[in-house]
Amino acid sequence: MTPASEPARILDGAALAQRIRAGVGDGCRRLRERRGVVPGLTVVLVGEDAASQIYVRNKEKAARAAGMESHVVRLPTATSERELLGLVGELNADPAVHGILVQLPLPEGIDSQRVIEALDPDKDVDGFHPLNAGRLFAGLPGLLPCTPAGILRLLEHHEIPLAGKRAVVLGRSNIVGKPLALLLLRRNCTVTICHSRTTNLAEIAASADVLVAAIGRPGLVTGEMIKPGAAVVDVGIHRVSEESECRRLYGDDPERLAAVRERGGTLVGDVHPLEARRRAGWLSPVPGGVGPLTIALLLENTLAAAERAATSVH
Ligand code: NAD
Repeated sequence: MTPASEPARILDGAALAQRIRAGVGDGCRRLRERRGVVPGLTVVLVGEDAASQIYVRNKEKAARAAGMESHVVRLPTATSERELLGLVGELNADPAVHGILVQLPLPEGIDSQRVIEALDPDKDVDGFHPLNAGRLFAGLPGLLPCTPAGILRLLEHHEIPLAGKRAVVLGRSNIVGKPLALLLLRRNCTVTICHSRTTNLAEIAASADVLVAAIGRPGLVTGEMIKPGAAVVDVGIHRVSEESECRRLYGDDPERLAAVRERGGTLVGDVHPLEARRRAGWLSPVPGGVGPLTIALLLENTLAAAERAATSVH
């Protein structure tokens, strides 16, 4: 690995995502030419959550750019669970829809788990259905959750050694931490999962050759928690709008300070960027690291679902 005296090299998720999306575009073209099938992605958005609106718009645009048929079904906050389950049933039955994504979080009063379990597992392009989670657990092929799958691709693309290495995953959510730990185990890492009740988090983190932070706490992973030369993947996304906080995380970085002053904020992850850059061998930036890969892997999942539907005999 890179000696710690050099600044960390960038785990460039944006560039890799572009390559993946180009590959998905080629795959969509081939499927259309050979089978006359256009992959279809339907995103369901319930309510007015501002961040979700942006995510959903980005997913729709990316799917269209890859040559897919992409639709967003927007439902009011007052939508009942029964209505949403009815829509999921219709989408499950629609042969033009190969991928269904129900944007989370759902409004209060709707049981997200029940909605996820109502999805056809073969159309579950978020990879959250218990059948797909079980396939991952058992090491069987299935649709993988997009963020963890993207992180693994990022590590593999940059040829970060994994087999026999010590990987520490900070965070145990079903969306990121847990599935990622299983994927790293599949690649023969020795994996430790840390969470909010872990007592010696800093010490465990500092033992990692590969450290992934998915905890939702801005800049929590500081320099002394990073083994010199380690590969560090930062999954967190937070908006920093205070100049003092921006300075704590980015020092006098003029671009970041200008973003706070002129545009009201800048993004930061769960890792302290300045300190990590000095200690780590590799570091994924925020933005431009894990975020773009999440969308790219969603497109890959949708293409895979469409290919599977086109070739399976019913
Ligand atoms: P979550 O809130 O569901 O889970 C957070 C996990 O971190 C929990 O398991 C909790 O035990 C652990 N945790 C919380 N505080 C901790 C602490 N002080 N020390 C140790 N562990 C602690 O979050 P999530 O959905 O897994 O997302 C994590 C972060 O990643 C968030 O910032 C989220 O915005 C971001 N995220 C980014 C993408 C992307 O595409 N880049 C995708 C998903 C999530």
